[in-house]
Amino acid sequence: MIDELVPIAKKMYQEIEAQEKISFFHERNLMWVLEGIGEENEFGRRAGDAQYAPYIDEDENVENFIHNIKNASHRKFIKQAAQVDIANLIQHFQKKWVAEGILRIEKFDYEELQHNEDGIVYKDIKADKIIFCEGNRATHNPFFNDLHFNISKGEVLIAKIPNLKSEMIIKNGLTIAPLGEELFWIGSTFTWKEENDLPSNEGKEILIAKLKNAVTIPFEIVQHLAAFRPTVFDRRPLIGAHPEFNNYLIFNGLGSKGASLAPYWSTQFVDFLLNTTEISKEVSIFRKNAFRKPTV
Ligand SMILES: Cc1cc2nc3c(=O)[nH]c(=O)nc-3n(C[C@H](O)[C@H](O)[C@H](O)COP(=O)(O)OP(=O)(O)OC[C@H]3O[C@@H](n4cnc5c(N)ncnc54)[C@H](O)[C@@H]3O)c2cc1C
Repeated sequence: MIDELVPIAKKMYQEIEAQEKISFFHERNLMWVLEGIGEENEFGRRAGDAQYAPYIDEDENVENFIHNIKNASHRKFIKQAAQVDIANLIQHFQKKWVAEGILRIEKFDYEELQHNEDGIVYKDIKADKIIFCEGNRATHNPFFNDLHFNISKGEVLIAKIPNLKSEMIIKNGLTIAPLGEELFWIGSTFTWKEENDLPSNEGKEILIAKLKNAVTIPFEIVQHLAAFRPTVFDRRPLIGAHPEFNNYLIFNGLGSKGASLAPYWSTQFVDFLLNTTEISKEVSIFRKNAFRKPTV
């Protein structure tokens, strides 16, 4: 769906930047060092498909950093990529909305939630609807804990790589994305059925080994982070209203692609809330197998 996702994401993020006078959306091309014959064949197949043409480039000027990348002769380029500083975006709105009195930062207590004919009551708040956007924690939501999540854990490193000098995102066995001031986001691991979302020695060692395979120059690890992704059995978001309590809604399942998926699907979700469209079947919580047990 990239032809639909990218223009909406770009427009929404740039409008927020202009409106809020902040910077968090960075358009950057991506250099992809293909690994082995499998990836070469797959890339070749897609490069021959007219639908992929607007996103693929054979060559770009990478003189200033290419000598720092291993196996760089196998490189191709992805156009129209971007890097979204979600942490910056979230911090901005948290600060703003707390100051405006429209956001409370506290743990939501499901036991305090009540509903009657007039709507919803939560502590001192009255509302028509409640929308749950809890990421992987939806598995603890008593109203939606039967949805078919398949939660994955991911670990990343923040590394200082003084001489890398790349403004591009580099994919070379792992992703290296520039953060400025010689710092790079290095990620990520993908594991399932993990007990906790804490950084692990194993994850760190995997990432360091892959980074050593990706760059020719020394680096220093500055930070090690881990989290659960709200991944779903069929890799599609989970959006819709509860089958029994129609004013309880969920917007979730953005998996490993929240930055590119959220603008498109949230736009459709708003249209749904305003009663102008239905939720697409492919992301609806009523699609086949979205609930682990059949629903009403
Ligand atoms: C290692 C890693 C790498 C990733 N890389 C990328 C990437 O390159 N590109 C990309 O697009 N996406 C990436 N993702 C995925 C991206 O982070 C998710 O798609 C996105 O965060 C999902 O957004 P969300 O708002 O649905 O959930 P979340 O970001 O998880 O937000 C849910 C929020 O709800 C809060 N919450 C939950 N329950 C409660 C409660 N009871 N009370 C109060 N608050 C509650 C949580 O604290 C959290 O702040 C990555 C994820 C990981 C872990």
